[in-house]
Amino acid sequence: MTINSDEIREAFLTLGLVGDEETGILRRFGVILACNSVDFLIEREIEFINSLGSKALKLGEKVLIDAAQWCANATFGGIMDSEEWAQLIEPNISTISDRFDGLVAITNCLGWGKITSYELDEEKEELKFVVDYSYYIEPWVDRFGKTDRPICYMWTGVAGGYLDLLFGSKPHDFVGDETECAAMGASSCVFSAKKLKKKYGIT
Ligand SMILES: [Zn+2]
Repeated sequence: MTINSDEIREAFLTLGLVGDEETGILRRFGVILACNSVDFLIEREIEFINSLGSKALKLGEKVLIDAAQWCANATFGGIMDSEEWAQLIEPNISTISDRFDGLVAITNCLGWGKITSYELDEEKEELKFVVDYSYYIEPWVDRFGKTDRPICYMWTGVAGGYLDLLFGSKPHDFVGDETECAAMGASSCVFSAKKLKKKYGIT
């Protein structure tokens, strides 16, 4: 591994991720960032799903995952286009796996939980990774108890988004899935991503 995640973490801490003195807006990595409480973020998703009704649960979940995937493409795409990335990370990248190491190091600074292990198959263009302390788990389980389905929608969209950025040409070339979720009682959340099969060969 040529990417030094400790060094990236140190540099991330010096980025001064606070709102602009004049406007209060925090523009960084080509996007506008905002600090929000996890309770707010999750409540918003629960309300959205509930507003569609129980019959549309799958649809509601898919919309949230798709939105997160668009967001991952924009945010991480912006990060990889940024001056900070060019100076700190790009010089150490020689393979697609190196690039993903850099993305993981940044992701683990964002307050979303921690990617503790991952396997990227460059040949098959498939990804599997484990997240400990996903930000969804504690507030969700406190409120609803254990779930019977995976609920880390943001991470699932990010899983597909990572592969869009590493191997694809546009958002949603790949699709993510959460195969184990700590909210269901698993020890960690586990995500996978692979190429999206197009129906009838239509792209
Ligand atoms: Zn989960």
